[in-house]
Amino acid sequence: MAEHLASIFGTEKDRVNCPFYFKIGACRHGDRCSRLHNRPTISPTLLLSNMYQRPDMITPGVDAQGQPIHPDKIQEHFEDFYEDICEELSKFGEIESLNVCDNLADHMIGNVYVLFKEEDQAAAALNALQGRFYSGRPIIADFSPVTDFREATCRQYEENSCNRGGYCNFMHVKMIGRELRRKLYGTRHGRFWGTRSRSRSLYTKRQHLVFDWSTTQAS
Ligand SMILES: [Zn+2]
Ligand SMILES: [Zn+2]
Repeated sequence: MAEHLASIFGTEKDRVNCPFYFKIGACRHGDRCSRLHNRPTISPTLLLSNMYQRPDMITPGVDAQGQPIHPDKIQEHFEDFYEDICEELSKFGEIESLNVCDNLADHMIGNVYVLFKEEDQAAAALNALQGRFYSGRPIIADFSPVTDFREATCRQYEENSCNRGGYCNFMHVKMIGRELRRKLYGTRHGRFWGTRSRSRSLYTKRQHLVFDWSTTQAS
């Protein structure tokens, strides 16, 4: 019996625990979900909810002023963000994985998942991020149950064949370019998850950070 329960925990067959919260750390029903969201009291993973805001957030390919934005610029904006948070979060410990969702549903849009090597590092980061603002918006950080990003990620999206688009329930992880990956994670790093090879000395500070980490809200 115990074995049976263990095999269904967090799956569709589990009538108690929400499989989406368990696997992806986010569920579209939020607090109103009929199944349990077991929020961990400690985890090596933090979820920073809705943190990334793409420049063409309102209409794809168009900025807030209605001007078209080149896809390269959108990617550059994202990579600046990625590098910035990677740099800030690695002050608290070695980052094993840093994933930003490309999903569009409210509970997943712009979600940032950071997996530290140690739980203590995640706890220190969480503590430091409480009450802080990023680009004028409050940072919403929490421990997340997700530690296996292979399980959480949509495989079809990686193969460019997900027909659920931005409303898919699995993570659509935004890719970073080869150059930035090499800079942040080194050359031995094969995929964007599982990053034991990263060396902090690879960092060179970017000249044009467009983001603002602050302890007060922008006026
Ligand atoms: Zn749920
Ligand atoms: Zn998908």
